[in-house]
Amino acid sequence: MTVSAKITSMTLSVFTGLSISAEAQELSEYAPVLPATLERAWAIDPDKGVETREVADGVYVVTDGVWQSAFVVTDAGVVVLDAPESYAAKIPGEIAAVTDQPINSLVYTHAHKDHIGGSAAFAGIEGLNIVALTGVAAFLSEKNDPNRLLPTTTFQDELVLEQGGLHIELRKANYHSDEGDVIAYIPHAKFLMAVDTIAPGYVPFMGFDITSNFHEYRNVFETLLAYDFDVFVGGHLSHPGTRQDVVETQEFTQDVYDTVKRVHAETDLMGIFVETAGEIGGFDNKYLLFKRFLDVVAERATAELEERWVDRLAGADVWMEDHVRTALIYIRWDD
Ligand SMILES: [Zn+2]
Repeated sequence: MTVSAKITSMTLSVFTGLSISAEAQELSEYAPVLPATLERAWAIDPDKGVETREVADGVYVVTDGVWQSAFVVTDAGVVVLDAPESYAAKIPGEIAAVTDQPINSLVYTHAHKDHIGGSAAFAGIEGLNIVALTGVAAFLSEKNDPNRLLPTTTFQDELVLEQGGLHIELRKANYHSDEGDVIAYIPHAKFLMAVDTIAPGYVPFMGFDITSNFHEYRNVFETLLAYDFDVFVGGHLSHPGTRQDVVETQEFTQDVYDTVKRVHAETDLMGIFVETAGEIGGFDNKYLLFKRFLDVVAERATAELEERWVDRLAGADVWMEDHVRTALIYIRWDD
């Protein structure tokens, strides 16, 4: 059954009052998370709600099992990378548990609320340097959101934060959000962070992580792999990744692109128009004729890709149709 059929069925059950068991059976058709992915998940102490681990010399990753952020301890204070809405209030305590150094810098990877909407928890830190892209700062100033503190240092393309003898390289990219994304690299630790790119062990979140630019999303893998890194933080889900995780998601993305491109080229647009017109009694409803064509391409590509990836990356059946539709828009209108 296709994803859209599953959703239609679930939606129907809400309106028609079909039995819960019928709905549960639909949901149970989704593949469980792959054991290899679950084995890598960091255990979260339910009393704390977050897990913090040192992943490289002086570099720590914090996660609540869904979001991820990081902090870097230097001899001249702590640099925090992102302040997720869901647990940022716990970050100062996690830092205090490993160092006496004060927090003095906060870097925003991008403007999205889920990754920086907890920054208000840092409002009491005097002299806090909040670093973001110029475009992100302009957007936040327009939003005037009390949960997202305004940046104090902005940059257009690149910035190197030098603190306590450490270098943290920040570089603008455009793979995800409209206002721009920051790739953060700490050379001595071989640590790379690019939020909302990949989720290790899983396919990306919906529509290649709700990218507003699939072209740049496809390009980002080469950019990432040009860095010399061992630890990768993508901002989700339950554990950080490695170089191999980036390579695997690049392969996944390329396969979706290639498959959708081929299926789109092979699918007979006029044939589907004529067939659909026969069913609805004419060619007047052009939107419906075209929707039918896109649906057929999406269904064919989704079925083929699901089969190839469902045993390789968790969530392949959950989001495949969304990935296919994102690729389809790009292939038909941009490629
Ligand atoms: Zn985001």
